[in-house]
Parts: sequence; C-alpha cells; structure tokens
Amino acid sequence: MNIHEYQAKALLRQYGAPVSDGRVVLTANEAKSAAGELDGPLWVVKAQIHAGGRGKGSFKEAEAGEKGGVRLAKSVQEAADEAKKMLGKTLVTHQTGPAGKQVNRVYIEDGSDIEKEFYLALLVDRGSSRISFVCSTEGGMDIEEVAASTPDKILSFDVDPAIGYQPYHGRRVAFALGLTGGAVKQCVKLMSILYKAFTEKDMEMLEINPLILMPNGDLKVLDAKLGFDGNAMYRNQDVAGLRDETEEDPKELAASKYDLNYIALDGEIGCMVNGAGLAMATMDIIKLYGAEPANFLDVGGGATKEKVTEAFKIITSDPNVKGILVNIFGGIMRCDVIAEGVVAAVKDVGLKVPLVVRLEGTNVEKGKEIINSSGLDVIAADDLKDGAQKIVKAVKG
Ligand code: GDP
Ligand code: MG
Repeated sequence: MNIHEYQAKALLRQYGAPVSDGRVVLTANEAKSAAGELDGPLWVVKAQIHAGGRGKGSFKEAEAGEKGGVRLAKSVQEAADEAKKMLGKTLVTHQTGPAGKQVNRVYIEDGSDIEKEFYLALLVDRGSSRISFVCSTEGGMDIEEVAASTPDKILSFDVDPAIGYQPYHGRRVAFALGLTGGAVKQCVKLMSILYKAFTEKDMEMLEINPLILMPNGDLKVLDAKLGFDGNAMYRNQDVAGLRDETEEDPKELAASKYDLNYIALDGEIGCMVNGAGLAMATMDIIKLYGAEPANFLDVGGGATKEKVTEAFKIITSDPNVKGILVNIFGGIMRCDVIAEGVVAAVKDVGLKVPLVVRLEGTNVEKGKEIINSSGLDVIAADDLKDGAQKIVKAVKG
C-alpha cells in the first residue's frame, strides 16, 4: 500500500526526521490561507498523487500551465494561484502511464534552500532477504538516468537483522554522500530514525529523493515516498487509515474488498486461476502463444461461489478484455464451486467475449456437468496448453 508525500512526511516527522512545515489542501479556496500560515519567502506547491516524477511531469490541460507538478512560488498569492491551477487537473509523469492521474490534493510547503541533492532509500532486498540501504550523491530528478548509465554512483549495503541498525551504517551513508562535520552526525541519527520507522511500520520501500544538504549545513527530507506491506496492515491501523482509494485502480480496489489477489495488466485475455504459481504459468503460456494477459488473478484456495462471481465480474468489467481463460487445478479449491461462480456471474452480467474453461482436480466431473448443463457458450479445454491455444485463437482468429 502506498501513501501520499504529505502523509509520509507527517509520519517521518513523528519519528523525529527533519521535514519542512506544510499544509495539504483539497480546494483552491483553502490554498491562500494555508500558504499564509507558512513563513516564506519561498513556497513549494506539490501535486499529491501516488506516482513519482512529478517535477518533470506535465499536465494534460493547458490551463494548468506549462510547469510540472512541483512549483516554486515567491508569495502567498502565487502559491495559491499555482495550487488552483493544479487541482482537478491530470498530471502525467513517467510513472503514471499516458493516462496520468487526477490531482485531488495539493501540498503547500515552506520552501528550502538547497546546497546539494542526494538519493536515499531503504528497501527489502529480495536477493539477500534483508533490509538494504541505497544511496547516491546524484539525487534529484534524474536518478533513473544515473542508475542506467553510471550505476557505480549508487552505493547499497544490507543490514544484518540479528544486529539491526548500528551507527556505522549511518556513517557509511554519510561518507558515501561526502558529508562532513555536523552533517555526519545528523546523517547517523536520521538513518536510525528511518530504519526504526521502516521496521516498526512494516514498510517495503522508503525513498527520499531528494535528501538535501542546506547552505546552513543541515540535512532535510525534501521528498518522501513510502510503500507498506499490505499483509501487515492489520497491525498498522494508523497507516491503513491513510489509504486513498481514489488513487487505486477501481478493479484492484474491488478485488481487495473480496480478498482476491488481482493485478490489472494491459493485455486482452482475462485470466481466472487458482494459486499464484499457476496464475504466473497461465500468463506465461498466453504470452508464448502470442497474446497478452489482461490481469493476474489468484482466487485463492478456499474461495466461495460469491467470491468467484465477483472475480468474474471484475474481469468482465475491463473493456480491454477480449476473451477469458478460466484455468483451475482443483485441490482445496473445488471445480464445482468455480463452475457455479462462473455460471452465476455470466447470468448476472452476460458474456460478450469467448470463454475457455479448463478444469482439473477435485470435483472436476461435477464442475464440467454444471458448465455443460448451463447452456453457456463455453469452449472446453483439456490442459493448460490446449486452453491457452484455444483462447488465443478465439481472440486473435
Ligand atoms: P518528484 O519530482 O515527484 O520526485 O518531486 P520532488 O518532491 O522530489 O521535487 C522535485 C524537485 O523540486 C526536487 O528535486 C527539487 O529540486 C525541487 N524542490 C522541491 N522542494 C523544493 C524546495 O523546498 N526548494 C527548492 N529550491 N527546490 C525544491
Ligand atoms: Mg522526488
């Protein structure tokens, strides 16, 4: 789960990290008084969307102005004007995809003077199964370019979980960033704060780009992006409350309400599968036969008929779906439950695209019987290969 920058900064502030004072606004009317509560003489107006690259992004609407989603203002009035231009408009960045994201919230912040911009992240390194620090002197808006062309400018190292964070980890970051004097001490303290927040709140990613050194020698967190482990939300109710459902794919949101593992993709073949491994294999084989999956969907082990019905509805609600492949290997999941769910969903929403069903395992005969006697126009498949070939043929001709 992701949260907005202003929420991330509020959370990090609670842990004692240095962040600027700021106000979030949802309407243009609030913007002027919000900006007036900040000291100046510089204000920063920042579009709040769950995507990075805002500074280099651009708005779809001409009236939003030429500048990106992070703007500097020299007066309260100017800050309010910029906020007004962004609210309700669609910001496109390299992370949003061409559709962009609507800006519903704007964060107005006390502007900082920048001496240097650094990159800093904490993440779960799946290779080492440890939390890893990643940092670079080349922070700011071109970090992707740095990673691609000069990866040696990025330092990363793991923290041994048995030892946890130690001051030498912080010193390693400080020296990699070329810090001296008091800034080294600040860095060691800041890294301990970030590591504590990361572990206590079950984060998957914490990215500060840029972390800045100011002319007065102090460090500050100027941007913050936090991602949390969805499976740990039950013990982080404060974080769960920060969820902004308007930022999420409506299909993924509906799926999460029914506890379905669903991820929307760009292809044309909707997949309903049980088990993450089989779902991956199904996506692979669809690609092998020349088409693209429209989603990843694992209905899980003990799915009910209602859950299967909802899953089917979510797949059919995607206008890109030109065909559906149901691929079930019944173990704990029973084939007849899947069949009942599919039939119920089709009765509810109709079936406008070809449907290939491959059932195998527990109660397979009962499942096939339910489908066959339903009168649905279903193409039966014997195995995974057969199913994939049939759905690709039905869609591509
Ligand atoms: P992103 O483009 O979505 O990563 O948004 P950031 O919050 O990282 O802002 C983009 C850039 O705007 C930063 O790299 C800074 O160069 C600049 N910026 C952001 N806040 C300030 C500020 O307080 N003062 C100044 N001078 N520049 C800022
Ligand atoms: Mg940034």
